[in-house]
Amino acid sequence: MEKIILITGGGRGIGAACALLAARQGYVVCISYVADEAAAAAVVAAIERAGGAALSVQADVSDESAVERLFVAVDKRFGRLNALINNAGILSAQMRVEQMDATRINRILTTNVTGSFLCAREAVRRMSTRHGGSGGSIVNMSSRGAVLGSPGEYVDYAASKAALDALTIGLSKEVAGENIRVNGVRPGLIHTDIHASGGEPGRVSRLQSSVPMARGGEPIEVAKAALWLLSDEASYTTGSFIDVSGGR
Ligand code: NDP
Repeated sequence: MEKIILITGGGRGIGAACALLAARQGYVVCISYVADEAAAAAVVAAIERAGGAALSVQADVSDESAVERLFVAVDKRFGRLNALINNAGILSAQMRVEQMDATRINRILTTNVTGSFLCAREAVRRMSTRHGGSGGSIVNMSSRGAVLGSPGEYVDYAASKAALDALTIGLSKEVAGENIRVNGVRPGLIHTDIHASGGEPGRVSRLQSSVPMARGGEPIEVAKAALWLLSDEASYTTGSFIDVSGGR
């Protein structure tokens, strides 16, 4: 039977790489986006051109009713999902903690933390054997920032990813007996648009000399780790993390 995957923020960057790889691995792919409809449509078109099935849905993960609508759209089009990548995430302009206001901090936390909790909740309601499901697998897209702290840039973002790691650990234990595995991937410096949204498009180039492997990573290198954790190859792996960071 075909497996159904939902990837939040699957229209661009790491999420798009996950979507395209998942399709190549035979998944039916649902992606969500918040604003860039054209990018999401291009991912869906690429999957369909290659003979796969895909759906894109506009849904802000920080909006509870939008998340509920997103999962219902997946139910209606394809059925109960087997896999979720909580990938959607944001950061804000680089600054020190003493410069941050509550609006900024809450925006980061609501998207990166609340959004991931809401999507995990909806996934568990469909996957858990407690609710008549047949199990599944969840991957949370964390960051090496959760461990390194992102000083002088975005400690609020790093803190949101540390919260996501706690969600991974706690939820993995909560649902381990219900045939659901929950793991995390912690990317390092990856070539995507997210750095421009922090005000420094060239951030990976500036910092790559601090990476032991002396380069930034590509989205596909992160996607491979996420898809492995979702797969049956990782059948005894839960509450675990893979750092995809070139040693940084
Ligand atoms: P991008 O900025 O390239 O893409 C982010 C994606 O998230 C977009 O598809 C965007 O949708 C979506 N998104 C943003 N906000 C929301 C929202 N409120 N609701 C739904 N979707 C939303 O980022 P990356 O690909 O670089 O990052 C993906 C994940 O990887 C993030 O969680 C990020 O924190 C994490 N990460 C990235 C690293 C890197 O170096 N790139 C390093 C460590 C972690 P839309 O296309 O509509 O704008």
